[in-house]
Amino acid sequence: MSQYQRYSRQMLFSQIGEEGQKKFGDTSILIVGMGALGTAIANHMVRAGIGKVRIVDRDYVEKSNLQRQMLFDEDDVEATLPKAVAAKRKLEKMNSEVTIEAITADVNASNILELMEEIDMVMDGTDNFSTRFLLNDAAFKQGIPYVYGGAVSSRGMTALFIPGETPCLRCFIQDAGGTTGETCDTIGVISPIVDIIASYQVTEAMKYIVGAYEKLNRCLLTVDIWNNHTYSMKYSSPKTDCPACQKKEFPALQHGAASEVASLCGRETIQINLEKAFDLKEWSLRLEKVAKVKKTPFLLKAELEEGERLVIFPDGRVLVQGTSDSGRAKALYSRYIGM
Ligand SMILES: [Zn+2]
Repeated sequence: MSQYQRYSRQMLFSQIGEEGQKKFGDTSILIVGMGALGTAIANHMVRAGIGKVRIVDRDYVEKSNLQRQMLFDEDDVEATLPKAVAAKRKLEKMNSEVTIEAITADVNASNILELMEEIDMVMDGTDNFSTRFLLNDAAFKQGIPYVYGGAVSSRGMTALFIPGETPCLRCFIQDAGGTTGETCDTIGVISPIVDIIASYQVTEAMKYIVGAYEKLNRCLLTVDIWNNHTYSMKYSSPKTDCPACQKKEFPALQHGAASEVASLCGRETIQINLEKAFDLKEWSLRLEKVAKVKKTPFLLKAELEEGERLVIFPDGRVLVQGTSDSGRAKALYSRYIGM
C-alpha cells in the first residue's frame, strides 16, 4: 500500500482502485504539443501516475503563453527554454516515479511513427488540423487510441477515437481546409475552456486504461463555456469511404517528409526545416558578427537588423519571427544561414 500512498484518493475511487492504479503505471502515453492543452493533460497524467509520458513540442516558452499554459513561469520565459524541456522540469518535481521523455522537435510524417514506438495512447495537445490528421492516421495505422482535443476562443471539442471500434477524426472532419482557420493566435482563447477540454481528454483516457469501456463517452463533444452550449454528437458508423479508418490509405503519412516551410499558427512565424542539424556554438560565433545573439543550451536567438528574429534549434529547424510571408522568411534564411 505504501508504494501507492500518493495515489490513495484516486484508488479510493472504486472504479480505479489498486488494479486500475497498476494499469496506469504500466501505460505509456505520447502527448503531442506542450501548449495550453498539452500542459494541462501532462499535469493530470503525471500526477495520476501514468508510467511513461513522452512529450514533444517544437517551440519555446514566451510571455504570452503564461496566461493559460499551466506548467510554465516567468523564469522559463527569461531562459527561453524549449517548452518540452521546461515542462519536463516541472513534471519531474510533481512525480519523480514517472518516466518523462522530453523531445524538442517538429512532429511530422517523417518522425511520427518513431515517436509512437512503445506508446499505448496518443493525446492531442496540438493547435492545427494538419498535425491532428497526422496523429489520427498514425494512431489508426498502429492500432493505438487517439484522444483528440482542441480549444480556441471559449469553445472546445474532444473525442476518443479507438481503431477498429469507433469512427476516426476524418469521419467527422474531412480536411483542414474545411475548418474555419480560427486559431488562438488570431481570435484568442480563455484558459478555462482549455482545462475543460483537457479534463475530458484525460478522463476518457483513464476510463480506457482501466478498461471501463462501458463508461466511454463515444461521441464528439463540443463545449462553449462562455455561451453556455454543450453538444454531443453520438458516434455512428464510420464513413464507408474514410481514407484513414476504412480505406487505410492514411493520407497524412503519404506525403513523405514534412513540408520544409511551414507557417506557425498565425503568429508571424515561419518555420524552415532544411538542415540536418545545427551546431549552436559554431552558429553563435558566425552570427554574432551581424546580429544580437543569445545562446542557451537548447537554442540560438538572433535579433536581425532588419527587425526580424531567427531562432535556431539543434534539430535543424529555424523559426523566422516577425513575418508571416514565407518568401520574406526564405530570403532572410538564405541571407543569414544560406540555402
Ligand atoms: Zn474514419
